[in-house]
Amino acid sequence: MNFVKALEYLLPAVDAVHARWTTDRDVLFAKHNAHAESPRVTCTKGCGACCHFPLIPATAGEAFVLLARLLADGQSLEELHGKFSPYARRYLEAARQSGSLPLTDDQQRRFLKEKLPCPLFVSTPEDGPMAGHCGVFEIRPLICDFFHNLESPELCLLKKPHGSFTDVMERGHDALDEIRIAERRIFGRSALGHLPLLLAALMTDAGMKTFLTTANPDLGEENSQDIADFGLYLELISCLGYQWSDGEWTSLAKAQSEVI
Ligand code: SF4
Ligand code: SF4
Repeated sequence: MNFVKALEYLLPAVDAVHARWTTDRDVLFAKHNAHAESPRVTCTKGCGACCHFPLIPATAGEAFVLLARLLADGQSLEELHGKFSPYARRYLEAARQSGSLPLTDDQQRRFLKEKLPCPLFVSTPEDGPMAGHCGVFEIRPLICDFFHNLESPELCLLKKPHGSFTDVMERGHDALDEIRIAERRIFGRSALGHLPLLLAALMTDAGMKTFLTTANPDLGEENSQDIADFGLYLELISCLGYQWSDGEWTSLAKAQSEVI
């Protein structure tokens, strides 16, 4: 499939999911806010620890749509590549040094200390540590919209569990799943992974070619869809020069099943 055709199929599907999600999100938050005793979201403008997380789960299709929008907005591929390529190098180097991908919870906490933001995060020297704002707020992926905190933002800085509205999180994950279903219908497979790495991979010729290559998993075979999905993520990250070991494949499968 070529870039234009892929966008023609994917864009309306992703936009439709976002529109349904946005409506439901507003209803759910309004319901919580109507109760005086209901906890309040503690996320504040400028807080950006979650933009430094070593796992910002998004689908390859979301990354593709985001990239297409950035290009349509006038950003050049060279300029974007110049931001994402060093990020991917540093991230994958940290992964190699810590042993493997995906990063364990402890490794994620250590990684957070590197203060390596999503390349789309914007901050100035006047902003505090890990503070700033999303440079693509209006078109940010689903996870960046539905992830929230009802407790101290300090917990995010330490990458520790914190309270969230369960119904909002569930609806967000369902929306993410709807996007994955659309991607499988269009391309035969749907990778779920770390947003900046997916974007970095799509900015390479090999990564874009891989994404646009449709698969035809034999759904009669056990786990064939999972295998096709994992295969796409493995191939995309390989396009960034990362060499996977067999053990990483198993851990990745486990980690992905825990995200969705
Ligand atoms: S989820 Fe956590 S890090 Fe992200 S904006 Fe909210 S409090 Fe800050
Ligand atoms: S896309 Fe925006 S909100 Fe999401 S991680 Fe990147 S900078 Fe943060």
